Amino acid sequence: MTPQPNPQAGAAVKAADRAHVFHSWSAQGLIDPLAVAGAEGSYFWDYDGNRYLDFTSGLVFTNIGYQHPKVVAAIQEQAGKMTTFAPAFAVESRSEAARLIAERTPGDLDKIFFTNGGAEAVENAVRMARLHTGRTKVMSAYRSYHGATSAAINLTGDPRRWPSDTASAGVVHFWGPYLYRSPFHSETEQQECERALQHLEDTIVFEGPATIAAIVLETIPGTAGIMTPPPGYLAGVRALCDRHGIVFVLDEVMAGFGRTGKWFAADHFDVTPDLLTFAKGVNSGYVPLGGVAISAEIAETFATRPYPGGLTYSGHPLACAAAVATITAMEDEDIVGQAARLGSDILGPALAELAERHPSVGEVRGTGAFWALELVRNRETREPLVPYNASGEANAPMAAFGAAAKKNGLWPFINMNRTHVVPPCNITEAEAKEGLAALDEALTVADEHTAQ
Ligand code: PMP
Repeated sequence: MTPQPNPQAGAAVKAADRAHVFHSWSAQGLIDPLAVAGAEGSYFWDYDGNRYLDFTSGLVFTNIGYQHPKVVAAIQEQAGKMTTFAPAFAVESRSEAARLIAERTPGDLDKIFFTNGGAEAVENAVRMARLHTGRTKVMSAYRSYHGATSAAINLTGDPRRWPSDTASAGVVHFWGPYLYRSPFHSETEQQECERALQHLEDTIVFEGPATIAAIVLETIPGTAGIMTPPPGYLAGVRALCDRHGIVFVLDEVMAGFGRTGKWFAADHFDVTPDLLTFAKGVNSGYVPLGGVAISAEIAETFATRPYPGGLTYSGHPLACAAAVATITAMEDEDIVGQAARLGSDILGPALAELAERHPSVGEVRGTGAFWALELVRNRETREPLVPYNASGEANAPMAAFGAAAKKNGLWPFINMNRTHVVPPCNITEAEAKEGLAALDEALTVADEHTAQ
């Protein structure tokens, strides 16, 4: 499947990229993007004949891998029939995608508002909550990522927010549960749960419950470290929202559509939010698509009053055809079940075993195809392998770890002092084992930077 190397073609792609592409999240003069020649299943390759096993699923979106034949065929078929059409019309692929999504989202989240990606979904969830409640403040957690547009970046609780901090008023941050580095100095999950809920309630009371439109939370915070909340936490947040008339928004842009071994991460906790945002896995990112699943009560608010929001490409027929084919393939091939078994039978035990052998691994946590390894200098003190938000020389140990993985044919997901193991949900057992062996070797490089 890997074509003949063609370094000349690669050099041309790279030259045009360097001359004209302004890359996101980057200092343009300091980056050296790999020229990618192709991708299939769990692999991609460059023009020099190097092939990489993708433990990142792109940006955690290729839940069914690259170039799934049924989805590629569905996009081609839709392009032949109706490539595009404006959002105000009823279109087959759009109505079918909405039906398939609504049937899988929890509870009564039966109406689907389509967007082109995750951040726009968050923007619209916030707008719906504000209009529904007549309130303006929105609360979200530190150590979260909600997108790079106006309200979404303000809600985000990581350093990418800092330069845009004041763009929209009324955002209040609070600490969510994170036992490994507990903001509440807890020693058990139960303590962490109780203290995090008490902290959230205190924050609500002091902000003024009647001023708060929404609490926006990632069901399992992804980018910030895949921190599965302790049992009872999300049910506790649900109860606080009910008590104070606050709209509960769960952001499942990363955790949704099979990633955790269930259709939605909320299914692990038996909670139903009022609004659920999704993107990425809905069609494995083959064509940009996201959206908000809306409860019956909030949908009713807009039954006779117009909803003031929409995008030219909302519910694009091509993207929706890709979603229909993706969801159907996930169902037919039991890809959600595959993710669950990948976590319980392969990744969970193998990563725990790596943690035993490598002093640089402080903690392993996750579920399904959604895992994080927290790398530390010292297991006792839990000092991170690199300081928070490190760059340049300070980040050298993580850079060395990443380079070692790539040398062994593994493309790793790296964020601060963590590597996330987030392969396609349908990665084969042999591929997963190949990736784990490369990870094992790369961790040896990380171990060299420990001090214990
Ligand atoms: N919410 C979450 C939980 C995410 O992980 C992301 C993207 N990583 C977003 C929102 C933003 O999605 P997009 O980049 O498609 O706008």
